[in-house]
Amino acid sequence: MMEEFSNPKELIQEIQEQYLETSGFKATLLSDIETDIGPCPFIRLKRKSETGAPKVLLSAGIHGDEPAGPHAVLSLLKKISDGKIVLPPVNLDIFPLINPSGFLRKTRTNQHGLDLNRCFATGHPPKEIRIMMNFLKNREYDLSVEFHEDIDTKGFYLYEHQPVHLVGTGPNEWGQEITALLRRQGFPINESHTIEGMPALNGVISPKRKRRSFFRQHGWPQAFYMHKHGTSRTLTLETPPCLSIEDRTKIHIEVFRFALERLQKIFHEKQAQPHA
Ligand SMILES: [Zn+2]
Repeated sequence: MMEEFSNPKELIQEIQEQYLETSGFKATLLSDIETDIGPCPFIRLKRKSETGAPKVLLSAGIHGDEPAGPHAVLSLLKKISDGKIVLPPVNLDIFPLINPSGFLRKTRTNQHGLDLNRCFATGHPPKEIRIMMNFLKNREYDLSVEFHEDIDTKGFYLYEHQPVHLVGTGPNEWGQEITALLRRQGFPINESHTIEGMPALNGVISPKRKRRSFFRQHGWPQAFYMHKHGTSRTLTLETPPCLSIEDRTKIHIEVFRFALERLQKIFHEKQAQPHA
């Protein structure tokens, strides 16, 4: 059985004290975030690979009532430490727990009632998002993956943003392959044709222009900010809380590994092409 944390400080402490060195990551303390039980360290994890390797950002816990994400980060580090997972060579930055005050309260919002995933374009973003925006503004990633959950879904689904020139080119659309892979492993997929008001196919939503006006009104999510700053490929994963925490963390890790392998393959193919 997997230990489930409800205290954000203990989860961060577990990451820092148990698995950092053995998994090849370094932690940077970016700031402290106030919670009902005092300040919680806001850290970023980093694992450097060879120069020229793809750059990847992994984010978890921006919504406090979605515990599988931060637990999946913890579990991923543990599996790397134990040698059960070997990640392909990528430069990896991780935000393991973006909303510690909401995590403690088990609320979507932070303790000031803000949905942090709608605060990426406001004039005065809350501290959690200010830290992230400062960190992200001059960084371009080849891939950004966000671990989320959705209490209203009975099956897994994801949002997929691809570089525009690749949309509709079959093999470059990872979402369909991801949900097929999970289905084969026996995990439930949300098969609705409409999810969160958007058209979906086999558990994959590819947000289109229409969505922009919605977010202009309601505030920018992280994925929009990433696009604006040059990250063309994003995956936002949504697990169903009706599954066990073990299964939900397993899904996140499985999809993350799939995406890293795909990304590495693209990089290899690109390097193998003769220069024009
Ligand atoms: Zn969420």
